[in-house]
Amino acid sequence: MKCYSCEKKLKRNEVYFGDLGTPLEGKPLCEDCYYDDEICAIVYYGRDEEPYLITEARNETNGDFRVKWHSTDPWRGYFETSSEKYSLVNTAELLAGHESEKMLKQFDERIRELFDEHGIDYARVFARSSNVFYQNYDLYVRKDQKNMADLLVAKAKSEVDYDNPKWYRNIIFDELTFRKLVKLFPEYKIETDYDLFRLLEKHQSSFLKELRDRLRKLNESNL
Ligand SMILES: [Zn+2]
Repeated sequence: MKCYSCEKKLKRNEVYFGDLGTPLEGKPLCEDCYYDDEICAIVYYGRDEEPYLITEARNETNGDFRVKWHSTDPWRGYFETSSEKYSLVNTAELLAGHESEKMLKQFDERIRELFDEHGIDYARVFARSSNVFYQNYDLYVRKDQKNMADLLVAKAKSEVDYDNPKWYRNIIFDELTFRKLVKLFPEYKIETDYDLFRLLEKHQSSFLKELRDRLRKLNESNL
């Protein structure tokens, strides 16, 4: 038998198998590859400050949570989390150094207070992406508490102004580019980077031509 990751030859008694819910689930591995500490996600249960790691081959949550690589192109992507035991009630994108960071920290503090007050059993999962500045913050609750948790999430969000479009700018486009494009495409009512990104995605090749035409018109009218 060979190690799935490094192809080292293995004797029968040397084989490790990737844990349930990891990217290498069930794959034969050598000891080094099994204990490789490349982290895919970190799970925190409620107020327990102990981090439970999910690496490429090890799952310290005993399968409560699973991760799967979601590639957006051959070089980029992020780890998607899931659970059979818990329900997902919110996903936030944590962008290091972005202005939404403070708001998300407030949201995190507030929602945990509310969950504690109402006896909601929750877990927070921080999943890595290929971009070192960006990770997902997935909030899970025990399945039978989902309805109550949804209400509390909505309450915490309104308290910290979570849905204000201003938090979702300057992620992909800088403010100046953003404002220019909003002006050039008024009919799309663009409010966030994501609106703009979806617009670009939808039109792809025709978008550049359209952009050129509109810029030309704008330049002519400014003359
Ligand atoms: Zn190996």
